[in-house]
Amino acid sequence: MIASQAELTQQLLNSGLWISSKVNGVFGWGQGFETVISALDSRITQFSEADAATSINFPPILDRSILTRTGYLHSFPELCGSVHSFCGSEHEHQALLTAVEGDADWSPHVKQTDVALTPAVCYPLYPTLSGTLPEDGVLYSLSSYVFRHEPSLDPARLQAFRMRENVRLGNQAQVVAWRQLWMDRALSLLTSLELDVELDIATDPFFGRGGKMMKANQKQDEGKFEILCPITSAEEPTAIASFNYHQSKFSSVFEILLADGELAHSACIGFGLERCALALFSTHGMALETWPAAVRQELGL
Ligand code: ATP
Ligand code: ZN
Repeated sequence: MIASQAELTQQLLNSGLWISSKVNGVFGWGQGFETVISALDSRITQFSEADAATSINFPPILDRSILTRTGYLHSFPELCGSVHSFCGSEHEHQALLTAVEGDADWSPHVKQTDVALTPAVCYPLYPTLSGTLPEDGVLYSLSSYVFRHEPSLDPARLQAFRMRENVRLGNQAQVVAWRQLWMDRALSLLTSLELDVELDIATDPFFGRGGKMMKANQKQDEGKFEILCPITSAEEPTAIASFNYHQSKFSSVFEILLADGELAHSACIGFGLERCALALFSTHGMALETWPAAVRQELGL
């Protein structure tokens, strides 16, 4: 029997794999959980290294103009994490403290800063690539914490989590073939971990009425695939990895060109590391030492 969302959360907390905070979707991770996250990360790194992908680590904040220029606030306004800070005088500080001490809303006393929380690891990459790419395009391996404002009781729906991405820019044929290569690799990796996975076409959670049209277009263009795995429900399996083809969406905003002067195409593939680890714990149990030997061997545990 598959554990419910509440049961799985309780099992993770009881076994010290997760540490509770008072906020839904925000947890600390114990050592056993981190061991699995690192093992998954290393396994993905092996593929990135075989591709000679350039590795970059960005912090979990980015220039907020990247979000406005790429239409993030149009598509996903409810997920966005703006960063605000106090910028006032000593007099204004008193007003802030009065609000804080009265347990009142202190947002009128802070101002928006130049940064926002990173919603997906590939966003900070694109502006660094403005200009003309080398003949064969480029390949990157990225990793960061990301933020999504989606408080939930589902242990697989976190507000802060680690996303491990690989990104390819090149011509259409190169980018589409590369995404297919990663779908094949990811399926074979996750199957070797004895997870019950399936690949399916998917859409991003575009906001509002306009979002319906965007979802329909994305589906028609086969813009997104996901690998799904039952974590707390067999009927509604959870997306643990995503494979996105953006056509020239990002390269047109940041003027990223191919050697022949055409706009580059881009794709990114992302593993949600906590969701992959959760899939393993929910499938094989809370005690690493009782996991199937082949799974532990595959992860080097
Ligand atoms: P969903 O459809 O579940 O909301 P998404 O389409 O927004 O996910 P992507 O933007 O493709 O997800 O994110 C890449 C990967 O990050 C997903 O495949 C998933 O593994 C992971 N992920 C997405 N949202 C969350 C979340 N709230 N908590 C934990 N992991 C997540
Ligand atoms: Zn991406």
